Amino acid sequence: MSEGAAKKEEKPRKFQAIRGTRDLLPPETALWNRVEQTGREVFATFGFGEIRFPIFEWTELFARSIGADTDVVSKEMYLLARQHDNEASFDLARRRESLMFRAVSSSDKSGIDSFIQEIGKFCSDYEAALSKELVYGDVGTKVVLGYLKDSIAYLSSDILQQARAADWQERFDRTVALCRQYLDMVDATSALRPEGTASVCRAYIEHNMQQLPQPVKLYYMGPMFRRERPQKGRYRQFYQIGAEVLGGSDAPAIDAEVIELVMTFFEKLELQGVQLSVNSIGCRECRPKYVELLRAELLKVKDKIGPDSQRRIDTNPLRVLDSKVKEEQAIIEKLPRIGDHLCKECTDHYAAVKRELDLRGVKYRENWRLVRGLDYYMRTTFEITAQGLGSQDAVCGGGRYDGLVELLGGPPTKGIGFAIGEDRLILSLQESGKAPVAQGRDVYIAWMGEIARATAVRAAKALRNAGFSVELPPVEQKFGKALGQADKLGAKYALILGDNEVTSGEWTLKTLADGSQAKFTEPDLLEHLRKQKKL
Ligand code: ATP
Ligand code: MG
Repeated sequence: MSEGAAKKEEKPRKFQAIRGTRDLLPPETALWNRVEQTGREVFATFGFGEIRFPIFEWTELFARSIGADTDVVSKEMYLLARQHDNEASFDLARRRESLMFRAVSSSDKSGIDSFIQEIGKFCSDYEAALSKELVYGDVGTKVVLGYLKDSIAYLSSDILQQARAADWQERFDRTVALCRQYLDMVDATSALRPEGTASVCRAYIEHNMQQLPQPVKLYYMGPMFRRERPQKGRYRQFYQIGAEVLGGSDAPAIDAEVIELVMTFFEKLELQGVQLSVNSIGCRECRPKYVELLRAELLKVKDKIGPDSQRRIDTNPLRVLDSKVKEEQAIIEKLPRIGDHLCKECTDHYAAVKRELDLRGVKYRENWRLVRGLDYYMRTTFEITAQGLGSQDAVCGGGRYDGLVELLGGPPTKGIGFAIGEDRLILSLQESGKAPVAQGRDVYIAWMGEIARATAVRAAKALRNAGFSVELPPVEQKFGKALGQADKLGAKYALILGDNEVTSGEWTLKTLADGSQAKFTEPDLLEHLRKQKKL
């Protein structure tokens, strides 16, 4: 190889941020800070305190709370692989991988049998290794192994007993997909957080917050991670600002106040085209009955709807209502509406929430088709859209989730909350011209000469202490160049310090917008700038 070619080879790789992630840079970050600062102020006025929870948690926390069959958990979660350090665990890792990537055809009976058998053996070997502490595991690992065993049991019973069922192929495919998902999860005890509610509930339980005055009101802001197809307003690392109210009662005024809080925040930001939709999706009493009714009605029109919706008839019929497929809209409009099937308590609760919203002057639209993507929601659900976002126009989703804390092993607890997509919020503010313009420096210090250097350093310190943004060039520059530089940085003033100024004690301040100049002693200068800033 020639020397030149070798050099070429050595050329270091140019790194780029991973797809779906991005850098946030100035001046845009100033807008992010303004949004977050406004959020903190509004949250404080409603009595919320900040919670900061870890970026990664046990996978099972998310699987349990969000629901193992939701897209967020089954497809979008970033699982963190565990470390292997001995032969037994290497062996399990190899078998896990080979099972995970195995093609299983529904027509290959013996292939299916060996898939089932090998998974069964894998589960028992894994459990043995866990008890000998050859692999590191936790409650979550055992739970996932349990799911895996349930899945193969279902797979064998399906094959043996329901071989002629009409939707057999569908069930088969789904069960195999679930096996793969659990195989993936068994080796990943932790995951990057896809959302915040589960962590807040975990923290509420862990720190016995039920002993604090109820309800406990918490807010958070920070990055979340979902493996989704990146597009405008949809990233793999995105940011949420959320709040939760836990414990105490489920009084409708709490629901309304939480919604009022978000709306106040958006108003303060002057977010444009804000539309609030509300709905009630019932409770453990009435929802299952409605879901069954919906399923029965959907089965009647099964051939008229697309494959995604067809699949959801079985997995999660409520999600069909969410469908954006054009051909399905007329059909969906004729489906039974949950509002007509709520139990008395839910009907009353929903009516009271609406009254409380009216009382607060919060404008809303009712949308009977509004359902949330995560399993834990019940009763009040809401979504807020804003302008300038194209098809990803939801900036906030929220709702009530009584029972979630209990599901995670805590005491019976009421809960309601929301999460704002900060990326989309910022995008909408930018699109409607509500983004602040870049802040330039207040003062650029143009200095020349050794004596002036010392004065410049002292002046910079005094001005910065007084709260001004100051640029002090590190090396001497000709005045002309310095003034050009000051202009480029968008400085308001240039403070000119040469030998004359230093010896006379009269400093020259040039206003860059109009080129005017004036002389000041040091104390007068500070006074003058302070007055100008207040104007
Ligand atoms: P969508 O229907 O847009 O996927 P979602 O139902 O998954 O939203 P939630 O889990 O309720 O969203 O999250 C609340 C908010 O977080 C959303 O309304 C949205 O503004 C934002 N959000 C969710 N996923 C992303 C993402 N991948 N990138 C940017 N923002 C997101
Ligand atoms: Mg989503």
